[in-house]
Amino acid sequence: MIYADIIIDISSDKLDRSFQYKVPERLEQEIKVGMVVSIPFGNASQLRKGYVTGFSKEPKIASGKLKEICEICSGEETTESRLIALAAWMKENYGSTMIQALKTVLPIQEKIKAKERRYICLNISEDEGYQILADLEKTRFRARTRLLKELLEKKRLDSAQASKKLGATSAVIKKMQEQGIIRIEYDEILRNSMDTSDIPAENQMLLTQEQEIAVQQIREEWEKQSPRPVLIEGVTGSGKTQVYMKLIEWTISRGEQAIVLIPEIALTYQTVRRFYARFGDKVSVINSRQSQGERYDQFKRAKRGKVQVMIGPRSALFTPFGNLGLIVIDEEHEPSYKSESSPRYHARETAIKRAELEHARVVLGSATPSVEAYSQAKKGAYGLVRLNARYGSRPMPQVSIVDLREELKAGNRSVLSRELREKMKARFEKKEQVMLFLNRRGYAGFVSCRSCGQVMKCPHCDVALSEHNNDRLLCHYCGYETRKPQACPVCGSPYIGGFKAGTQQIEKVVRETFPGVHTLRMDFDTTRTKGSYEKILASFAKHEADVLIGTQMIVKGHDFPDVTLVGVVAADLSLNAEDYRCAERTFQLLCQAAGRGGRGEKPGEAVIQTYQPDHYSIQAAAVQDYQAFYEEEMSYRMLLDYPPAAHMLAVLGSGPEDELLVQAMHYLKLYVQRIYKKNDLHVIGPAYAAVGKVKDIYRQVIYLKHEDYQVLVWIKDQLEKYIEINSGFRKLYIQFDFQ
Ligand code: ADP
Ligand code: ZN
Ligand code: ZN
Repeated sequence: MIYADIIIDISSDKLDRSFQYKVPERLEQEIKVGMVVSIPFGNASQLRKGYVTGFSKEPKIASGKLKEICEICSGEETTESRLIALAAWMKENYGSTMIQALKTVLPIQEKIKAKERRYICLNISEDEGYQILADLEKTRFRARTRLLKELLEKKRLDSAQASKKLGATSAVIKKMQEQGIIRIEYDEILRNSMDTSDIPAENQMLLTQEQEIAVQQIREEWEKQSPRPVLIEGVTGSGKTQVYMKLIEWTISRGEQAIVLIPEIALTYQTVRRFYARFGDKVSVINSRQSQGERYDQFKRAKRGKVQVMIGPRSALFTPFGNLGLIVIDEEHEPSYKSESSPRYHARETAIKRAELEHARVVLGSATPSVEAYSQAKKGAYGLVRLNARYGSRPMPQVSIVDLREELKAGNRSVLSRELREKMKARFEKKEQVMLFLNRRGYAGFVSCRSCGQVMKCPHCDVALSEHNNDRLLCHYCGYETRKPQACPVCGSPYIGGFKAGTQQIEKVVRETFPGVHTLRMDFDTTRTKGSYEKILASFAKHEADVLIGTQMIVKGHDFPDVTLVGVVAADLSLNAEDYRCAERTFQLLCQAAGRGGRGEKPGEAVIQTYQPDHYSIQAAAVQDYQAFYEEEMSYRMLLDYPPAAHMLAVLGSGPEDELLVQAMHYLKLYVQRIYKKNDLHVIGPAYAAVGKVKDIYRQVIYLKHEDYQVLVWIKDQLEKYIEINSGFRKLYIQFDFQ
C-alpha cells in the first residue's frame, strides 16, 4: 500500500498542511506527483480536488483512519500541477523539504490581501447634486462642500486622494454615504510598479545578418523532435537582446508566453524599457525591490493571461503562465542564478527541467558563458550559436595589463599605477569619463607577496588561503591550517600581506591626485537606500561626475557613451577568492568591465592592474579570448576534479554549539564513508565555512566529489534519512548544496 500527500488549497501559505490519503491499487501505477485528484474531504465527505505532492510507504496515523483517493482527474493538467512536479524534481535533485520546494515554485498569497483601491462615486443625479451643493455652500460644512463640488466635476474620486486633498475625513465620507449622496466602490488593482506611459513604441529593428543567422539556427533547433537548449555565445554589444526579442515575438505569435531572466543588478530601467518599447503592455516585470504583494500581482496577471512576457531575476522562472513557450536566461554565467537558500537550485538547470515538463524551449546567452554551460555545448547537450561582431562594427576595447610588482620596484605605492594615472589625466583633459572598478566579489582576505606576486595557497586544494586572527592561514575546503610566513617563501621579500584598499580609499586617492575632478562612488554603503543605485547611474550618465568608482555593481546596467577608460584597480582581489571558480569569475568580470568602455562613438580602453600579469584569466580577458580561457580552466578543473569535470556536493551544517557541530559533521563524514566504500568518492573536510560564524551560529562544510551525479544524489538521500532519525542533529541545521 502506498500513501499520497495531498494539498488542497495551494493559494494559501499553509502548504505544510498536507493530508494523507490511501492510493487504491488500481491507481498505483498511474499516479504521479503534481496530478490533480479527487478526494473526499470534510465531514460531509463531499468531493474536493487536491494536488499530489509526494508519496510514502508508511501511514502517518492509523491506516484505518485514512480515506482513499477516488480518482485521478485526467485531462486536468494545470499550470500548478506542472509546477508541483517541478518542485518534486527540485527537492530530489537539490535536497530540501517538499514544503521548501513548493514555497519556492508556487506564487503564494502570503496573507497579503490583493490591494483594493477605494473610490467615491456620486450616488445621485447631477441635478440633485447641484441642488444639494447650493444648500451646502450656505452651511459651515466646508469639507462636504469641497467633496461634492469635486465629485460633480470628476464623477469618481480616489478615496485616499480625496481625503488628502479635500480634507474629507472618514466621518465626512461616512455621513454623506448615510445620506445617500455618495457611494463607495472598490477596484481590485493589480499593482504594476513600472510607469510605462512615457515609453514610445519601437518599430521592429532590422536584424544584422549575423543576428538573423543566429535566429535561423535556433529556429532550426526548435524544429527538431526534442529541441536542445541553445547557448548564444555573443560578445558584449553584439545584440543578443535583439535575438531574444525576435524569438519572443515568434513565441507570442503562436499564443505562447515567454520568461526572460536577467540578473537583478542588470534589471535596470534601461533594460526593461527596451522590452516595453517592443512589446508594450504585454510585458510585466518583477524584481526584489517590489513588495511581496506587488510581485504576487505580477504572477496573477500572468496567470490570467494579461501579460505574455515576464522579465525578472531568478524567481521569475516560476511565473505561472498557462502555455509557456520560451525561457531566456540572459548573462547565463551570473552567480545570482544560484539560490542560496534551500532548495539551492540553479536557474539554468531548473529552467531546462521546467521547459521539459511544459514542452517549452530554453535559450541561454552570455559573452562569457559559464564553464558548466559551455562544456554542455561542447558535448552537444546544448546547441551553440555565436555572435562574433559588435553591432555597428564598434571595435572591442584595447586592454593593457599593468604589473603592480614593477610599480613597487619603481617606488610607487599608490593604488593607481603610473599608466592608469596618465591615461586618466588624458581623459579628464578631453572631458571624457572614467570608471574605476574594484572587483571585491568573493574576496576573503588572501595573503600575497607584493614583490613577486606569490599567493599563499592550500597545498591540497589549490585555492588561496585566507587570513584569520592575524597570523593563521586557513583553507575553507579541507581545513588545512598554517602560520602566516614572515617572509615570502619564494623570493624572501618581507612585503607580504592582505590587500586592504576599499572604494572609499580609492576615491580619496583620486581626489588627491586630480584636484577638481568630480567623483561618484557606488558600493554597498552608497546604495543602501531605495533608488540610490539608479540615482548614481543617472547622475553619471548626465556627466555630473568624471569618475565612477565602484564594486562589481558598476559593470552592469547603463550604457555610458562618454566612458572611454575603465580601470581595474586590483584584478587579484577576485582572482584569489577561496573558491575553485575564482579564475572564471575574474575572467567574466574583467571582460564585462572592459566591455563597459567604448559603447558610444569613441573607442574604449581598459587598464588591468595586477600582481599576476601572467595568469591565464587575465591574459585571456585582455584579448577577450573565451576559447583560450576555457581550455586552460577546464584542464585545471579536470586535474583537481572540480565541476564540471566531476560533481560536487557541499553538506553545510550550522548550529549554535560549536562542539556539537564539529562532532556531528565528523559523524556525517564517517557515515558517508561507511555507506559508500568505493574509492572513487572524494570526501573533503569537514572544515569551517568561508564565513565560519554568523550571528553566533557556527558553520561547517563537507565536500563530496564524484563523477556520477546520481551517486551524490543517492548519498544525499541516505544522509537525509540518517539525519532525520538521529536526535543528535535536532539542534543543527543541515543543508545540501550541489555546486
Ligand atoms: P548585448 O546584449 O549582446 O551586449 P545589446 O543587445 O545590448 O548587446 O546591443 C548593443 C547595442 O547595439 C544596443 O544599443 C542595441 O540597441 C544595438 N543594436 C544591436 N543590434 C541592433 C540592430 N539589429 N539594430 C539596431 N541596433 C542594434
Ligand atoms: Zn615573493
Ligand atoms: Zn585545502
